[in-house]
Amino acid sequence: MKVGIVGAGMVGSAAGFAIVMRGVASEVVFVDRNAALAQAQREDIHHAVPFAQSCKLGAGGYDSLQGAGVVILAAGVAQKPGESRLSLLSRNAEVFSEVISQVRTYAPDAILIVASNPVDIMTEVAQRASGLPPERVIGTGTLLDSARFRALLAGHLGIAAHSVHGFVLGEHGDSEVLAWSSARVGAEPLDRIAAQLGVDITESVRAKIDEGVRRAAYRIIEGKGATWYGIGAGLARLVLAIRDDQRAVLTLSIRTPQVAGVADVAASLPRVVGAAGVVSTLVPSLDPPEWEALHRSTALLKESAKGLW
Ligand code: ADP
Repeated sequence: MKVGIVGAGMVGSAAGFAIVMRGVASEVVFVDRNAALAQAQREDIHHAVPFAQSCKLGAGGYDSLQGAGVVILAAGVAQKPGESRLSLLSRNAEVFSEVISQVRTYAPDAILIVASNPVDIMTEVAQRASGLPPERVIGTGTLLDSARFRALLAGHLGIAAHSVHGFVLGEHGDSEVLAWSSARVGAEPLDRIAAQLGVDITESVRAKIDEGVRRAAYRIIEGKGATWYGIGAGLARLVLAIRDDQRAVLTLSIRTPQVAGVADVAASLPRVVGAAGVVSTLVPSLDPPEWEALHRSTALLKESAKGLW
């Protein structure tokens, strides 16, 4: 599958690198308004191919997206230290409307993956601007946050992250909801397994993991200016699910008729992903405070998008 990446900055290039290292695409093409940057990323990642999997690398204008099955939208302005994702909105919405019409002209059949922040709102911007059905305009949403949740919980339990299942739902950002009540280790409820292992899951442990997930981006930005490896790996994972029609369950943001009582909003829920994009949405089992938190999160997203359309 040919994958186009618009925005060859840290996130776009990390996605391209992860895609090449995992052998997810037969061809990757970078497009950036900074053409020299797109070319440099292409050249650098091309040199990883002999150590990875076969993949053709390209860079160019929007016309080079022709034939792409998936286009990742990673163009935008980076989050500044301390800046909330939502405050990025107006800057990034402008960039997007310009980008989408070009992508649609040259890659009309591509599934769009939105990675630019604030990702939930940018997903709705992209869906509306593209005119594509919502299931074909997929925001990374809390894909990364759920991975962070699993990684931190796994570390605490001393269990492989792959065997720890937990969802982060709602906004990709400050109001996101860690669904503790539905977390599983293997197929068993978290509390039962923790008790068997003799590991505490106290309120303070939960609070520490919650903070570790929710504040991760702020901490990483403080230390290195931006985050890119985690989301790059997540993007490669998502493209693989589409390429192989895997029907993988991932927490992703698409424009949805109703989430936790909020109508017509783009927010993350567990979604089944395959070659056609999001093929279904799963209703998570949450306890009442988690439903309330999810309602608050999606209501906030709805409020933030007000006035944009
Ligand atoms: P991030 O950390 O989100 O990847 P970067 O600033 O590293 O942020 O990358 C964003 C990239 O998006 C930059 O390389 C920038 O040139 C690119 N970009 C911004 N606006 C456009 C646009 N209109 N078309 C194409 N690329 C764009």
